[in-house]
Amino acid sequence: MTYRVVWFKRDLRLHDHAPLAEAARLGPVLCLYVIEPSLWAQPDAAAQHWLFVRESLQALDGELRRHGGRLQVAVGEVVDVLDRLHRIAPFLGLHAHEETGNGHTYARDVAVGRWCHEHGVAWQEWPQFGVVRRLRNRNVWQRHWEAFMAQPQVHLSKLSFISPPWPAPEWPAVADLGLNPWVPPKRQHGGRPLGLGLLHSFLQQRSAQYRGGISSPLSAPTACSRLSAHLAYGTLSLREVVQATRAHMAAADAGGRNKQGLSAFMSRLYWHCHFIQKLESEPALEFCNLHRGYDGLREPDWNPTHFDALVQGRTGWPMVDACVAMLRETGWLNFRMRAMLVSVAAYPLWLHWRQVGHWLAQQFLDYEPGIHWSQLQMQSGTTGINTTRVYNPIKQAHDHDPHGHFVRRWLPAMRRVPDSWLFEPWRMPPDIQAHCGVRVGRDIPLPVVDLETATREAKARLHGRRAQPDVRAAKAAIVDKHGSRRGMPGSQRNAQGDESPRTRPRSNATPPVAQLSLDF
Ligand SMILES: Cc1cc2nc3c(=O)[nH]c(=O)nc-3n(C[C@H](O)[C@H](O)[C@H](O)COP(=O)(O)OP(=O)(O)OC[C@H]3O[C@@H](n4cnc5c(N)ncnc54)[C@H](O)[C@@H]3O)c2cc1C
Repeated sequence: MTYRVVWFKRDLRLHDHAPLAEAARLGPVLCLYVIEPSLWAQPDAAAQHWLFVRESLQALDGELRRHGGRLQVAVGEVVDVLDRLHRIAPFLGLHAHEETGNGHTYARDVAVGRWCHEHGVAWQEWPQFGVVRRLRNRNVWQRHWEAFMAQPQVHLSKLSFISPPWPAPEWPAVADLGLNPWVPPKRQHGGRPLGLGLLHSFLQQRSAQYRGGISSPLSAPTACSRLSAHLAYGTLSLREVVQATRAHMAAADAGGRNKQGLSAFMSRLYWHCHFIQKLESEPALEFCNLHRGYDGLREPDWNPTHFDALVQGRTGWPMVDACVAMLRETGWLNFRMRAMLVSVAAYPLWLHWRQVGHWLAQQFLDYEPGIHWSQLQMQSGTTGINTTRVYNPIKQAHDHDPHGHFVRRWLPAMRRVPDSWLFEPWRMPPDIQAHCGVRVGRDIPLPVVDLETATREAKARLHGRRAQPDVRAAKAAIVDKHGSRRGMPGSQRNAQGDESPRTRPRSNATPPVAQLSLDF
């Protein structure tokens, strides 16, 4: 029997799946997903990721069964599984999407490549989105992205299966994979039908709130698309989202509706690949400062008390602690609040990005290594090519939660604190503390450090390093390899991923989309 194995990873769909379509065109296929214990043991893995993947696999299996086949699931290391399969029924080829994952998947792919070579199996990989493997020149990257997104989505013409050699295993529970059992109770669920539902509701309705709604954590849960976890696990293809958005933009042109919101959203779809490309081109950025001139800046000063306060949501800055509470409950935060958390960690708390990054990778349901580690470094000031961006949590609270709805929602003790002290409760005079029944240091934490002094010192240390001649000299090569280029969507505004304050309308009202379960 000649057949090909289609190996599913972070591409849990049948639609617009080039490796599957090509294998199916050539003959019978075996659709394989490997649950790798070593991958789930990595410090960036979390129970919520596995549950989302499991739901997506179940949906995928259902779709395959409707085509007369099923998904072959195996628990084990990929090389061992391939070897076992090959002994039972030798296969001609292994088809998969390219993956820009963490250091572990990189090493695993090297081992898979070696195994294929030794066993005469042709391993073919296809790009998933606009990330280019072995990119030589960043100047031509945008052209690649446009060309990929303009190609027609891949449709399956015929699909025939070989009988899976093993019965389907029981789906491992969280504990079987050795994962910490904590799961945000209000996390999003996996599976392509849910991803398609979000895409539809966003394009038809919610995108009207995108512009002006994405910065405040009050409006962002419904104003943002909420597609990130579906893009991270590939239940939707980025190309189908890009093409659907462009089709809506064309209709918006015709009807004069909501063009700016959709255009701002399109920039993010572009940035998705722009950031992942950085990790693809430089896998070491998961582990080391992108600009090595910043090595040793924060490393020797690791402060476990500061880290604990951040993780427990007890920094004493209400906006920060409320964001941590929301993240624990939902597995999601909007861009600006993610950036604020990292900025607080990197500047006043002076924490190195790597440990903070592992903690956040587990908190974010949509953990995507290429975006995540690039953003961690950018917000911590270690790329050497981005302007220092320090988010003051008191200013963020005034700008994005002026009436304190968010802070009071997530920090019940703050409900008794009067408006005027809400964002700096440590300044409350003792008689007011007594009157409202909230004692600072007992009912709510005191700030871990003095925000102004600690931030000023942190910036001075970073800028001191930046001013060194060798550090300045090394910058050009990084810009050449990783920098965004003029003309890239959104680059003229704020290419860090947020709205520019100038384009954000003044209103901070929550959009009226309360029916959606996205509304926390
Ligand atoms: C420290 C930090 C870590 C982050 N880690 C991740 C991560 O692990 N996974 C992840 O998907 N996003 C990450 N982001 C980017 C961004 O915050 C999320 O993509 C966004 O909040 C997801 O919600 P959404 O899908 O509703 O976004 P939307 O605003 O609707 O955007 C649509 C899609 O565009 C992409 N996108 C949006 N903003 C960015 C951005 N700034 N950079 C790159 N791509 C973007 C995402 O794929 C997103 O799903 C991180 C940001 C920061 C500051």
